[in-house]
Amino acid sequence: MIYDVIIIGGSFAGLSAAMQLGRGCRSVCVIDTGQPRNRFAKHSHGFFAHDGDAPLALIGAGRDNVVAYPNITFIDAEATDVRGQNEGFIVSAGDQDIHSRKLILAFGIRDNLPDMAGLRERWGTSVLHCPYCHGYEFKGRPLGVLSTTAMSAHQALMIPEWGPTTFFLNGGEMPDSQTRARLQQRQVVIEPGRITGFTGEAPSLTGITLEDGRTVPVVALYLGSRTELNSPIAEKLGCVLQDGLFGPVVQIDTMGQTSVAGVYAAGDIAYSAHNATWATSSGVMAGSAAHRSLIFDPLDMTF
Ligand SMILES: Cc1cc2nc3c(=O)[nH]c(=O)nc-3n(C[C@H](O)[C@H](O)[C@H](O)COP(=O)(O)OP(=O)(O)OC[C@H]3O[C@@H](n4cnc5c(N)ncnc54)[C@H](O)[C@@H]3O)c2cc1C
Repeated sequence: MIYDVIIIGGSFAGLSAAMQLGRGCRSVCVIDTGQPRNRFAKHSHGFFAHDGDAPLALIGAGRDNVVAYPNITFIDAEATDVRGQNEGFIVSAGDQDIHSRKLILAFGIRDNLPDMAGLRERWGTSVLHCPYCHGYEFKGRPLGVLSTTAMSAHQALMIPEWGPTTFFLNGGEMPDSQTRARLQQRQVVIEPGRITGFTGEAPSLTGITLEDGRTVPVVALYLGSRTELNSPIAEKLGCVLQDGLFGPVVQIDTMGQTSVAGVYAAGDIAYSAHNATWATSSGVMAGSAAHRSLIFDPLDMTF
């Protein structure tokens, strides 16, 4: 069988794309390994009508909705290889070779966390990437930002919206005088010293210990991690990648089309703004664009 579309990744972006195509009466195969990026968090916040739901419950409900369509097949497997053939694609997953006319990449990204004892086990509970997702729950309490990238000072300027903020440089470079002045204006305290540990029973956090022996009270620590695409498949297909704010992203146009004809991308792999709502909306766009490309060739329209 040749599917109209194979979607690699069956989470917020991939399932949203599948819904458009399924409702467009096309045959779809979703391939997924069940490891969404937010699986470390107990609650997902800010998603329309589902604020605070468990991430896996949200995705499970999305999957139930999608597999109710008989023209959508869901395969629990890793897509390990993709190649183009006769203006279509062959995806290897498990022991199968699956054929399609179009392809949507929605396999997400992974976070490369700093290698610090006690940090990884707090990821998603008290060590966090995004205050919109997990900030309100800590409002008014002492918060921290860990310097990891050039964007960290920007994050340190934002976090005081949620609570009094300490910016931990962890032995890294001191911000320039202009940035320091802005941080001071926002009443951000800079701690230049190296971090030696975290206090509080993981995954909770009560404080951050510095090399001089002091413990600064902090209940949530924000950091911008460097990110990587979960799979080399986009590069293998020849899709152009570009530098995003946190790591490489797949270059797409406004319809979600990559630089390779017939290949679309959606979700965290294609944007620097990362949340479930954006992933979902970009999945809707890629799904409807892939659908239209099966009808109109070339796809000479944009929204
Ligand atoms: C700790 C944490 C907490 C977060 N909390 C929130 C929150 O509260 N609210 C919010 O809106 N956002 C939150 N986010 C952001 C949110 O997780 C992402 O924006 C969202 O998951 C992106 O959706 P996606 O579909 O692009 O990718 P993912 O959800 O990461 O899904 C990618 C899917 O592809 C699969 N996959 C990967 N490689 C392959 C392969 N080769 N073959 C087959 N399948 C593959 C994966 O297993 C996964 O199921 C959080 C992120 C983190 C890290």
